[in-house]
Order: sequence, then structure tokens, then C-alpha cells
Amino acid sequence: MALIVQKYGGTSVGTVERIRGVADRIVRYREAGHQVCVVSSAMSGETNRLDALGKEVVERPLAREMDVLLASGEQVAVALLAIALTARGVPAQSFLGFQVAMRTDAAHGRARIEQIDTQALRAALEAGTVPVIAGFQGVSPTGAVTTLGRGGSDTTAVAVAAALSADECEICTDVDGVYTADPRVEPKARRLGTITFEEMLELASLGSKVLHPRSVEFAGKYQVPLRVLSTFEDGEGTLITMEQDNMEQPVVSGIAHARDEAKITMSGVPDIPGVASKILGPVSAAQIEVDMIVQNTGADGLTDFTFTVKRADYESALDLLRPVREKLGARALEGDNSIAKVSVVGVGMRSHAGVATRMFDALAEENINIQMISTSEIKISVVIAERYLELAVRAIHGEFGLDGKPS
Ligand code: ADP
Ligand code: ASP
Ligand code: MG
Repeated sequence: MALIVQKYGGTSVGTVERIRGVADRIVRYREAGHQVCVVSSAMSGETNRLDALGKEVVERPLAREMDVLLASGEQVAVALLAIALTARGVPAQSFLGFQVAMRTDAAHGRARIEQIDTQALRAALEAGTVPVIAGFQGVSPTGAVTTLGRGGSDTTAVAVAAALSADECEICTDVDGVYTADPRVEPKARRLGTITFEEMLELASLGSKVLHPRSVEFAGKYQVPLRVLSTFEDGEGTLITMEQDNMEQPVVSGIAHARDEAKITMSGVPDIPGVASKILGPVSAAQIEVDMIVQNTGADGLTDFTFTVKRADYESALDLLRPVREKLGARALEGDNSIAKVSVVGVGMRSHAGVATRMFDALAEENINIQMISTSEIKISVVIAERYLELAVRAIHGEFGLDGKPS
């Protein structure tokens, strides 16, 4: 008998019919002799709907109240799932974040899990009851409702699996595993049987929506066996593993893309010490995350400073920098919020040279201009115009021999 934590995503619980299907799937695991602890997302589209509702009231709603609003999506889903399980003769009980208790810090909208009380969950499991936990939500030190950031139910599930020392954490979703690229963008993408934590963490952090980055971080840290698989079909899915040392590593394991990026350039800035901190200081003080940074100095002693932020932060970052531009006497402040980032990831890059050149060649062949580049030991990222995103992913996918057989 194994203890399995299963997380069901929005599409998996998107309709009453699907919720019934998920309940049947859980019953099958129980009949096979396993203990199951469930984590659920909100029904698909619900979190977006609630988010839009809050922003309809005022442009910038209070973060604390937005968390109360957004967390309600999961409350509906866990109640429906517990009702469906009970109707099948399986005792089930819903748990909201505070009932677990899922303790987080107080950073509304992007809270981090700090501690999970397992007592109530263990008691339910021992009594033969299936706990159905609301993903994505927690409780702050002062008792406020918090949320973990979009896609955060994956992290709830892995954290619960770690706290319960579960035998496996299954992320049950609308794809049957982790692919070499988002199958919605590259239909020739192939499912990977296994992928290392390190690569998966890069892919997730660079935009692969299939797993929330912090869930991979948790799984690596607490050695939780993590599997991504389909809710709707049987199959092995993809197992996230420790690095295999004996296997022939492909140079590139996968491609990630992120559309929600924007670029800001302050040009013609007098090149004196402290410029970078004068430009980025106010941006980070406003909790705006900066991703890539490029600085170039021309022969005239003036410097151009470019960096990227999430598209949602674009207008606020520009607002913050207008007075900074005046103060520094910079020539111009410009931005572009229709860029995208494409990245190749692979541990095999450590032992192979020339990966960047092959990636750049593949883009050049399609006449795609590279605007920014950043690299680390196992990844290369480029910023391009968003309209070339699909073309770029497909060109790079082909270049590195990742295309699977047409299905
Ligand atoms: P859920 O609602 O179940 O959490 P998500 O929409 O968050 O599902 O994540 C699943 C989606 O992630 C897939 O439908 C797919 O389009 C996308 N995706 C992006 N990159 C990948 C990848 N490398 N492999 C598989 N799916 C990916
Ligand atoms: N419902 C939340 C979202 O849409 C959390 C999740 O689905 O993981 O972001
Ligand atoms: Mg998700």
C-alpha cells in the first residue's frame, strides 16, 4: 500500500462531469489498495474570472482582499469533489488552507509555504477518509488568507507530499507528461519518460506552465518522487528524477517559452558608477522582478541600459523610471511589451560546446532577430519579438533533433 498525493488541475475539474471522472479515478486508486490524499485547483477559467471581477471594481485592488477572492475558486472545487467521492461510498473531507493548516508568510499573491500541520490530514487518512485539500491557498501568521501565485496548486501538492512523506506526488493534468516543448506550440513535441529536477526547475522557471517552479524546488529539496501524468488517460507520464549519470544525455532536453515579458531601455545615460543601482533601485523597491539585464557603453561614454520585467509590471516600471530618467539626464526611455523569451535547457550542455551557435543559426535561418541573450550552465535564453514565438520554438526544436514521429 502506497500513500499517494494527487493534484488535479483546472481542466481536470473543469465541469461536473469531469469532477465525477476524477472521483472515479481516485476510487480506482483506493481499490488498488492505496491511500490517497487529494489537492485540487479551481475549475478551469474560474481564477481568471475572479481576478477580472476584482479588477473591475478598482484598477489596483487590495492584495489582501484579492487573495480572499481568488482562493474561493478552490473552495468550490474541493467541496464538489468531496461530495462526488462521498456519493461513491468513499469517505472524503474537504480542507481549506487554514483548516490544514497550511502556514505561509504574509506576501499576498505570492506567499511561500513555511509549515504544514499534518495532524488533521493524518487523522483523516488513518480513519480511511480522503482529504481533499484546496490548492493555491494558505494562511498568514496573522490568520489572513494567502495565495501562492498563479499555478500554485502544484506547490501545495508537493509540499503536502513532503510533509506526509508520501510515496509519490502525482500532478494529474490535461497533458500526459512533460514534453520537449509546449505541445500547444510545437505539435511535434515528444513526451519525456524522465527529466532531471535541475532541468525541470529551469524549464518551469523559464515559463513551462506544466509545473509551478516552486513545486519542483520543493520536490528536489525534500526528495519527493514527482510525476506528471494525464487525468484522462492511463500512462506512465513523466517522472522527475535525480540526475542519471550513466545515461547518454541529450544536449538539449527541452524548450521553454514565456510570452508575458516586456523590455525597458534607458539610453544615453552618463556612464558613471552607480547607474545600474539608480535605475533598478526604484524598480526592485516596488517589488517588481527584473529578469534579464544588458548594459552597453558606447565610445561617447554614454551607456544604454536594457532589462526585462513581467508584462503586468511594464506600465508601473515605466512610471517609476520617468523621474529617474530626468534625474540622470538620460537621452531616452523606451519600452516594448510585445516580446517573448525562448529558452533551451539541458544538462548535456555542460559537456557540449556550440549549443548557442546552433540555436542562433536556427533563428537566423528564419530571419528572427535576437534582441537579448542570457546564459547559464544548463540554459540559453533569447528575447525575440512575440510574433515570431511559435516559429522560433519550432525552428529550435527541429535543430536539436527533438521532433517526434508525427502522430
Ligand atoms: P493544470 O490546470 O492541470 O495545472 P496547466 O495549464 O497549468 O494545467 O499546465 C498544463 C499545460 O502546460 C499543458 O496543457 C501545456 O499546454 C502546457 N505546457 C507548457 N510547456 C509544457 C511542456 N514542456 N510539457 C507539457 N505541457 C506543457
Ligand atoms: N487556480 C489557481 C490558478 O489558476 C492555482 C492553480 O490552478 O494551480 O492559478
Ligand atoms: Mg497548472
